[in-house]
Amino acid sequence: MGKMRILITDGFNLKGMLLLEEAGFEVVEKNLSVEQLSMELPGYDGIIVRSATKLKRDLLEKCTRLKFIGRGGVGLDNIDTDFAAESGIPVFNTPAASSRSVAELVFGHILSITRGLNQVNREMPILGHTEFNQLKKRYAKGAELYGKTLGIIGLGRIGTESARIGLGMGMRVIGHDPHVSEKKIGLDINGQQVYSTIHSVSTKELFEKSDVITLHVPNQDEPVIGFGEIDQMKDGVIIVNASRGGLIDESALLQGLDNGKITGAGLDVFYGEPNPSERILQHPLVSMSPHIGASTFEAQEKIGIELARKIIQLREELVA
Ligand code: NAD
Repeated sequence: MGKMRILITDGFNLKGMLLLEEAGFEVVEKNLSVEQLSMELPGYDGIIVRSATKLKRDLLEKCTRLKFIGRGGVGLDNIDTDFAAESGIPVFNTPAASSRSVAELVFGHILSITRGLNQVNREMPILGHTEFNQLKKRYAKGAELYGKTLGIIGLGRIGTESARIGLGMGMRVIGHDPHVSEKKIGLDINGQQVYSTIHSVSTKELFEKSDVITLHVPNQDEPVIGFGEIDQMKDGVIIVNASRGGLIDESALLQGLDNGKITGAGLDVFYGEPNPSERILQHPLVSMSPHIGASTFEAQEKIGIELARKIIQLREELVA
């Protein structure tokens, strides 16, 4: 087999790239328009994308040389996985690499809301030098997380990492997951292993007991949290969504924020990305980020190494 050519279209970690080059792959990184991609991709053995490049059937049909598709990240919505399966083209993603980073961002939002940092960071630059004492008074009603109940919807990879951080902060942690009854979670505390078991409870129990609710489920057609679910929650609840925009009904969220039922929402993902609703973006009780859960140096490095290893292994299997 000759030198395998890999096209990278949405960026890739340097370490992953070096691993591939050291293993003898020819790696080409290019920013291409849809038309250019359709002209060039048929000349490659593999492609590595994130979420921006769309690999649909009409394009993939032309790429008879293609031996794999690598997706740096989790979601495969941009790839025609049915066509890839029919054509025997393996699609690799890196579902575990970013879990810790997403979970840490979740807590960034939770802590931002409990101390009003999302709001006060907007006000300090304008009012801090003239109304410092008024701001000090306005933001004097913070809350601790210690001893509070964290309700995790979806006890998969990111849900588990969120549980780990919550436990480390002294929170009581419960979950809801139709496919999990309980989960034993290990914490490394200064090299000492400590274990705690998280129980999966009904949504009713989770909504009634949780001070903070965070959502970690796969994309689905219907929202998991809407008007009915918010009604069942504790007054003053904090809700975080770092999964997918449509999983929370944003009208229900706005109503809950406006009528005081919800203290604050932490959102990394939005309905209608990349053009989220301005009402959500401008709401003072929302702590927000532009879908950057996996965007840390560590996650990107893990993604790069994991994908490179999978590609190298595939070539060994093809040669054997
Ligand atoms: P995972 O597959 O490991 O876990 C998902 C869990 O949700 C599973 O245990 C499943 O049983 C459970 N589940 C499914 N439907 C449910 C429901 N209705 N109620 C409760 N639980 C349900 O997934 P993950 O790696 O933890 O990822 C979770 C989400 O995070 C996905 O939507 C993914 O797209 C998103 N994500 C976001 C970012 C970001 O940048 N913000 C990065 C990576 C992943």
